Formats: sequence, C-alpha cells, structure tokens
Amino acid sequence: MHHMRADRNNLRYAIIGAGMSGILAAIKLHQHGETQIAVFEKAAALGGTWRDNRYPGLTCDTPSHAYSYSFALNPDWSGYYATGVEINAYFTKVAADFGIMPLIRFNTEVLSCRFDEGQPVWQLGLSTGERMEADVIIVASGVLHHPNLPDLAGLASFRGKAFHSASWDDSAILDGARIGIIGGGSTGTQLVNALSRRAARVVQFQRSPQWIMPVPQFPYSAAEREAFRKDPALMEAIRNDPQYWANIYRFTDGLTDFTSPQMAEIEAICRQNLEAKVTDPALREKLRPNYPAGCKRLIYSWEYYDCVQRPGIYVETGKIETMIPAGVRMQDGTLHPLDVIVLATGFKADQFIRPATVTGRNGLTLDTFWDTRPTAHYAVTMPGFPNLFMLNGPGSPVGNFPLIDIAERQWVYIEQLLAPLRARHAVAVEPTRAAHAAYEARRIAAARKTIFAAGCTNWYLDKTGIPGTWPWGYQAFAEAMAGPAAEEFHFIPATDSGARKQSTWESR
Ligand SMILES: Cc1cc2nc3c(=O)[nH]c(=O)nc-3n(C[C@H](O)[C@H](O)[C@H](O)COP(=O)(O)OP(=O)(O)OC[C@H]3O[C@@H](n4cnc5c(N)ncnc54)[C@H](O)[C@@H]3O)c2cc1C
Repeated sequence: MHHMRADRNNLRYAIIGAGMSGILAAIKLHQHGETQIAVFEKAAALGGTWRDNRYPGLTCDTPSHAYSYSFALNPDWSGYYATGVEINAYFTKVAADFGIMPLIRFNTEVLSCRFDEGQPVWQLGLSTGERMEADVIIVASGVLHHPNLPDLAGLASFRGKAFHSASWDDSAILDGARIGIIGGGSTGTQLVNALSRRAARVVQFQRSPQWIMPVPQFPYSAAEREAFRKDPALMEAIRNDPQYWANIYRFTDGLTDFTSPQMAEIEAICRQNLEAKVTDPALREKLRPNYPAGCKRLIYSWEYYDCVQRPGIYVETGKIETMIPAGVRMQDGTLHPLDVIVLATGFKADQFIRPATVTGRNGLTLDTFWDTRPTAHYAVTMPGFPNLFMLNGPGSPVGNFPLIDIAERQWVYIEQLLAPLRARHAVAVEPTRAAHAAYEARRIAAARKTIFAAGCTNWYLDKTGIPGTWPWGYQAFAEAMAGPAAEEFHFIPATDSGARKQSTWESR
C-alpha cells in the first residue's frame, strides 16, 4: 500500500488529470498550503486537450487573454486567438512557475476509486499496480477527451493514412496532398482553413452545415506584447471587454429559450455572414443550416467562408457508402481519391472519468448512478460519493466562452465545501439525495427549453435526447458557484476518537 507522506494534520488530495482543470486544482491547493497533493496523469505530459490536439489550424475560439488563468495572465499570446501549440506551452509554463510539476505523477492512470466509509477514505487503484489512499478526490479528467470514432465501412482497406484529429499522425504528408476531412464541427472547419493553404485538394464531408459566427483575428505586435508585460491592466481590459461580454451574455441569456430574441439576433448575424461571404449560390445553399443557430456549438471563424471557396476545396454533402483503398465512394457513385483521411468526428462527451470505475458508499457505482445520464449536483458533487469533486463535470456550462473561468468559479464553490473538512469539523461531505434530485429535475426541465434542444443533433444531448449542459445563463452560474447552499449538503461530523459511526451517513 502506497501512502502519501504521513501528515495526518493535512488532508490527502488526489487530483485525476493534469489538463487545464487539474493544474488549476493543484495550484490552488498548493497555494493554500496543502502538502499532500498527488496529481495522476495517464499521459507522459500535461495539457490534456492541448497536448492531444495538434492538428494544423488549431486555435482557441475564446480570446487568448480570456483563455488564461486569472492569476497567470500571459503577455506573450501571439494574437487575439492563440494557437493550440502556444496554449499547451502556456499550461506547461504555468505548472512549472507555480511549482506543481513535482506533484504530477505521469504515465499513471487511475483505474478505480473505491470509498471506504468505515474510515472514511478513498482507495485508488493505479495502472502501475499501486494502491493509494486519499481523503479528497478532484476529478479533472476532461470532457472532450475520448475520441468519437465513426463506424465507417471499409476504413481498414484505405491505402493512405487515416486518423482522428486528436491523434494526429505526423508522418502524413499534407503539402500537395488530397485530403478528406470527415466532419464539419469546429475542428473540421479549422482543418479546412489550414489545409486549404497546403493541400492540392480538400474534400470536407459534411453531414449537416454549420452556422459560422464572424469574429476578428489579429496578431499582437512585439510592442503590444511589451505593453502587456509592463501593464497587466491592458490584459485585464481585454478579458473584461464589454463588447466581448455582451456577446457572451447575448448567447447565454438567449440560450434558455430557443425562441428568444437574442438567438434570433445571433442567427441574423450568422446568416448575413453566409449571404455576404459565399458568392456561389450552389455552395451557399450547401452551407446553409436548416436548424436554429446555437443549437450546435457555434463555429467562430474569421476565414472559413474564404478558405472553403478556394480552388481545390470541396464540400461533399452526400452520404458516404464506403472507404475504398483509393479514397471514398459515395452512395451516388462519386469517387473521391484521397491520400489522407482525417476523422474530425469529435468526442464522446458523456464519458467523463470513465472507463475508470468509481464506487461510492454502499457499493453504489458511478455507472449505476449515471445509468440514465451523467449527472452531478451543480456539476460538482454527487450523493453517495463523499469528498469527490468534479471540475467541468456533467452539467457544466459549455459554449463559446472560456472554460478556464468556469473551472475557476467551480473551484471557489469546492473550496467552501472543503473548509469544514480542513477545519476538522467534518470528515466527509456530499449533497443530499433530495437536494440533488430537486436540482436535477429543475435542470432537465430548463434544458428541454434551451436552444440545444431546438431539433438538431449535437454532442450536448444525452441518450434520452436532453441537453446535458448548464441550461441557465452565465450570471446564474456565477451566482450558484459563489457559494454552495449548506442545507443541500450532508456533513459527517468528526468525532474526538476519530471513529465514525455508520449511522451518521444518510441512509439509502
Ligand atoms: C479541439 C478543441 C478545442 C477547444 N477549444 C476551446 C476554447 O477555445 N476555449 C475553451 O474554453 N475550451 C476549449 N476546448 C475545451 C477544452 O477541453 C477545455 O478548455 C480544457 O482544456 C479542458 O481541460 P480539462 O483539464 O478539464 O480536461 P482535459 O484537457 O481533457 O484534461 C484531462 C486530463 O486528464 C487525464 N486523464 C483522464 N482520465 C484519467 C485517468 N483515469 N487517470 C489519469 N489521468 C486521466 C487526461 O490524459 C488529460 O490529460 C476545446 C477542446 C477541444 C477538443
């Protein structure tokens, strides 16, 4: 049995994942003076999303100064939207600057978490064969992490290189090549843009067209970066830009009702973009969505409509019949000869910490608790799983705003639940089943009315067709995260002897 350094005055924390969220948690715990922190990362490097996604054209679609930790602004961002490469380097630098690198155990996957309520303690099973104890678990294992691989007939027979966008094959030759891109989401769009400058031919296989929100992109000059360095208030001004926030609020206030004037306004902007930018009427109709804007995650792009109209770039809206050794054959008989096929087919957004097994009190497993859909109280905690907190967990807000801000706000909420544990007033905390059930009923009722439920297919929908995201506005989220409602939680008090009575848990 492997133990963290035996210092029973401090809680033992296990953080699962060293992406944006896990790094945040490690820094916050470290800054709080916690000494028993282990971050488990199954890969050989940190960065999560930004480590795995290395495809040409990847940028964030939230302004780079907003896609930064509030406590670690970065004067060196190359432009309004930063590249994936720089974002990954940023997380690596922040982790080093804040002294948390020694806390990360790389190449170590958490395979199981089992709660022992007699102690109480979490027992973690690791891919190294070790077992580990922790008082508190922070799940930071990502949302867009498990690639969604489509079942394409004949894919194995394809003679060229075929791979998912999050597992880029560096040996694939792109310059002058004929490249097929399966998928029209944010990744597929960014790929078309980048490859339209390099490939001989790009075919974008698109099941349904996307609304494209026009946004600015511009580089920051050396002089501007110097100014940012000297005066961080300039970066704060970009983060707090009223115009930028007005756009976010227009979306997050409007999304709660798919007939809202805000969503109509967003659609009008996207439609105007399409009409103004796409000159070929046939292509324009291929690219015109038949569902309301915002139902799928909006694509923010300053260049897609320009790039897709370049010579050699084709949008294929027909049905794929099969992959063949030379490329793709469509159901209408069209052949697309290709050298490379990129599966820009997104992620399984309902996996979260799975396939790790998590067993809470009374043998309740996460798979059982999430049988209908992944769910958590305000996206952070779960009844039956004490002392386990999630960042960007089920029901978290998703959209075109920085998830760093979301995670930072969730951390403020988590810290308040940790306080009684840190003070030794309690040994465990979990939401009551009644509070969670009431919350989830409200969330589902609201989710049914959101723009995400307006009749398109999208990755937010759970298997029953209900959007799995935060269904209210941004302000409502900020307010909810400002402080947990104490009466919604069950605290197991500490006893002088340190012994816990089974009966103090909420019965099930
Ligand atoms: C292509 C793409 C573009 C994006 N662009 C934006 C953007 O512009 N703005 C924005 O706000 N968000 C964007 N996102 C969302 C992005 O995922 C988040 O912003 C953020 O990076 C998520 O960080 P995370 O730490 O929560 O999860 P992840 O980055 O997914 O990190 C999770 C980590 O946990 C590790 N892990 C998982 N399970 C285990 C286990 N059992 N044991 C050990 N380790 C484990 C993984 O290896 C990984 O390193 C984008 C996502 C993608 C895929």
